[in-house]
Parts: sequence; C-alpha cells; structure tokens
Amino acid sequence: MAEMFYDDDADLSVIQGKKVAIIGYGSQGHAHALNLRDSGAEVVVGLREGSSSRAKAAEQGLAVATIEDAVAQADVVMILTPDQAQRTVYAEQIEPNLKSDAALFFAHGFNIRYDYIKPGAGHDVCMVAPKGPGHTVRRQFEDGRGVPAIIAVEQDASGEAWALALSYAKAMGALRAGGIKTTFTEETETDLFGEQTVLCGGVSKLIQYGFETLTEAGYQPEIAYFEVLHELKLIVDLINEGGITKQRWSCSDTAEYGDYVSGPRVITPDVKENMKAVLADIQDGSFAKRFIDDQDAGAPEFERLRSEGQNHPVEKTGQELRKLFAWQKSDEDYQDGSAAR
Ligand code: NDP
Ligand code: MG
Ligand code: MG
Repeated sequence: MAEMFYDDDADLSVIQGKKVAIIGYGSQGHAHALNLRDSGAEVVVGLREGSSSRAKAAEQGLAVATIEDAVAQADVVMILTPDQAQRTVYAEQIEPNLKSDAALFFAHGFNIRYDYIKPGAGHDVCMVAPKGPGHTVRRQFEDGRGVPAIIAVEQDASGEAWALALSYAKAMGALRAGGIKTTFTEETETDLFGEQTVLCGGVSKLIQYGFETLTEAGYQPEIAYFEVLHELKLIVDLINEGGITKQRWSCSDTAEYGDYVSGPRVITPDVKENMKAVLADIQDGSFAKRFIDDQDAGAPEFERLRSEGQNHPVEKTGQELRKLFAWQKSDEDYQDGSAAR
C-alpha cells in the first residue's frame, strides 16, 4: 500500500523560510509560483531573456528575474521548463549560479532518471509532481482544495530533504488532497508507460483504427466520429468516477455484453506483450535517447509524426463537427497542458 501524506504531516514554515526560484512560467510554473507565494513562501520567477511570460508573471505581483539571477538568490530551485529543454537550461544557466547547498526540485523525473542532469552531491534533489495540469492545480488551490501530488527524494544532502519536499507540497495545496511517496525511477517509468501505452498512444491509435474501420466499410465519417471519438469522454468520466464497473453499470446491457465478448478480440494478449516491449524501452533508456536525440537534431521525427497525426481524416471530420458544439471551447483553446503529462 502506498504511503500517503496530508496537511498535518507537513510543516509549512520550512518552505516559508526559503527563497524559491520557479524556472519557467508555463502550465506548471504559474501554478507553483502563485500557490507558493499565496502560502507565504518568498518566490522569484526565473525567465529567459525576452520571455513572453515576463509580463504575465509581473501582472500577478510576482518578482521576476533572469534565470541566472533567480537561481543565484534561491535556496530552492524548481525547474519547470519543458523536459527536453531542462538539460541545457541546467548546464548553462542554473548550475553555474546555484548556491552550493540549494535544493533542486522537479515536477517530473525524466532528466534525473536518465542522467541528463547530474546534480552535485551537496544538493537535495526532490520531486513534487501534481497529478493534474497546472491550470487545474491553480484553480483547485484558489477554491480551497488541492490536486494530489506524488513526492520523491532522490538525493538527501541536507538530511532534511523529505521535510522540505513535504512542506513544498503542502504550500502547493497538494496535501489537502493527499501526497503519495514514490521514487524518481518509479514516477518516470510509470508516467511514460501510462501515456505511451494507454492514455495517449493507446487511445489515439484505438480511435484511429475504429474510425478507419467504419469509414472504409462505407459508413459516414460524421457518424463514425460520434461513435468512436465523441462519446469517449462520457465513458472516461464514468470510469474516473467509479471505475470500469460504474461504466459497465451505466451503459446498456447490450454495450456491457459487447464489452465482454468483443473487447478481448480487439485487445488481444499480444497487445500486453507489446506493452511489455514498450516498458522495456522505457526502462533501458532507449525511448528517452530516441526522444532527446531527435529533439537535439531539431525534432524532425517528432514534427513528421505530429503532422501525420494532424492530417488523419478523423481530425478533419472532428474540426467541422465540433463547430456544432457552441458550448465547447474552440480547438485553439486546447493548447494548454494535458492530464497525461
Ligand atoms: P511548459 O511547456 O508549459 O513550460 C513553458 C515555460 O518554460 C515557459 O515559461 C517557457 O518560457 C519556458 N521555456 C521553454 N523553453 C525554454 C528554454 N529553452 N529556456 C528557458 N525557458 C524555457 O511546461 P509544463 O509546465 O508543461 O512542464 C514543466 C514540467 O512539469 C515538466 O517537467 C513536465 O513534465 C512537468 N509536469 C507537467 C504537467 C502539465 O500538466 N503540464 C503535469 C505534471 C508535471 P517562455 O515563457 O519564455 O516561453
Ligand atoms: Mg453508441
Ligand atoms: Mg508524462
């Protein structure tokens, strides 16, 4: 059973006594900076030269500095730039300016797990990873609630890294909901596995195959879109509320029976074997290497795959149909973080 931590298990005064540099002001960055500030910590946001986020952070009354200056003042440095940018930002702007005993914080273990960042022995290395997009993290905090977080200590140089990580998580509002203890390795490997095989990769491919099968058989694309994509949200909401059992209870008996007899014909045991192969690539670092090598080369594979995905017929059909749903946000509004990150 996982070890859980709540507000009473953490001491807010630990983080209130520190100067915290939040590097980056995107999805997670703005939520961390504002929640910590509102919890009484001294926050400075570190941004690159010419950053488009500077005005947004300043508007919220936050202190803003260059990454170098923010790091030089800080007892705690939370790195919230995109994962593929962290290695270079760390080497060029963070490490040369880091106080010898400053703690390094992350919201995802990728760069530590795969050794793209190797902090010196004098630094605490901690993770507080909220299990939700940054905008939800901020909204829940303002409403007096919190998004659960997973918490880890990779390196405990001070002997007090765990108390510091818990205090940070409390200031984020996360311990109102609960914090779960993990390790950088467990968080990174399970996060990558979940998004690749089920949440993002698995679901995307399942939708595309479903749409192709119906349209190739002569059914109208608009009808196919509703049946294999649009209704997915209703199903996922039920699963989220009460597990697969609630979803089966809520659907018709016809749907439930079809689930039992046809689900295993589509998702056959060799799918599980394929999942194991994906997990092996995550564990031995070959997925991370492929991703970072491609990013370093200007992301040619990433861009090609992105454009192929955007050109799938189910996307074109969806763009037209979604205009009928006036109450839904426009496609342009969906540039924000995703639950799977
Ligand atoms: P974002 O893409 O939202 O971060 C954008 C911020 O990073 C901006 O302020 C941007 O600067 C800055 N930035 C981008 N590139 C650089 C660079 N090369 N040098 C300096 N600054 C740069 O990131 P997320 O918030 O999505 O992710 C941050 C971390 O949080 C990651 O480790 C991610 O895995 C983790 N995480 C994310 C979740 C999410 O929901 N998004 C959920 C849980 C964890 P500018 O303003 O100048 O453009
Ligand atoms: Mg139906
Ligand atoms: Mg992820």
